[in-house]
Amino acid sequence: MEISFRGKRALVTGAGKGIGRATALALARCGSKVTAVTRTRADLESLVLECPSIEPCPSIEPVCVDLSDWDATEQALKDTGPVDLLVNNAACAKLQPFLDVTPEQFDQSFSLNVKAALHVAQIVARGMKSRGCGGSIVNVSSQASQCALKDHAVYCATKGALDMLTRVMALELGPYQIRVNSVNPTVVMTEMGKIGWSDPGKARSMTSRIPLGRFAEVEDVVNSILFLLSDKSSMTSGALLTVDGASWPAENLLRTC
Ligand code: NAP
Repeated sequence: MEISFRGKRALVTGAGKGIGRATALALARCGSKVTAVTRTRADLESLVLECPSIEPCPSIEPVCVDLSDWDATEQALKDTGPVDLLVNNAACAKLQPFLDVTPEQFDQSFSLNVKAALHVAQIVARGMKSRGCGGSIVNVSSQASQCALKDHAVYCATKGALDMLTRVMALELGPYQIRVNSVNPTVVMTEMGKIGWSDPGKARSMTSRIPLGRFAEVEDVVNSILFLLSDKSSMTSGALLTVDGASWPAENLLRTC
């Protein structure tokens, strides 16, 4: 299936590393202009350097901001041109046993994983609505939105909230031809994935419950994001697309690993 985003502008959050970086590069390869948003300037500089090697040469516009800062985000994104495609990808995973969760950890996680996703989507969707040409938004959620994972109380809660945000956004933005979906991957061995799953015992315990027998690759997630952004999914909105090798049966909803 050929997917082209020629003539489109995409905005990707958390584009410095991992899934967000690979998504930004894949969108550029498919012909889109990309606004790449993250908080580490060095990652943006290396992303821009990596991009010219892509043919035909599209542009990556770097935006450096801490997305958990509402006002700074407003300021940083105010001059971004019309955006057709949004990937709300930035998130943090701070793991603690439930009884040790602190208010700071809770607030930091919800500020980025939920509130910033809502805020960036508001900014982008207002523009889409006023231009009247629709758009597509993908929120990067997680298997953790539906599956209890040890030490992941706050992370799971943020992703559960993001799933409901996806559904309500789809409901309210649909009349403006703005589609909103999420991808819900299992573990991917990015920097974030390594926080929880580097231990071989834990990793085995998780993969043993995934019928396909492996974690997801970054590319598996990127391909699902591209599909949901593209016209190939033009009647799909409000969907939570699992990228988890079929690890959702009821008996798998409680994980002790
Ligand atoms: P990652 O490798 O840790 O990359 C996250 C990116 O987000 C980094 O570029 C990071 O920049 C940026 N970011 C973090 N906090 C930010 C902030 N306050 N403002 C702006 N940018 C910020 O993570 P990943 O594994 O690619 O995860 C991407 C998405 O997939 C997340 O939504 C995650 O929840 C989801 N997901 C991941 C997994 C997994 O196992 N990896 C599984 C399911 C879902 P810095 O490096 O500067 O912090």
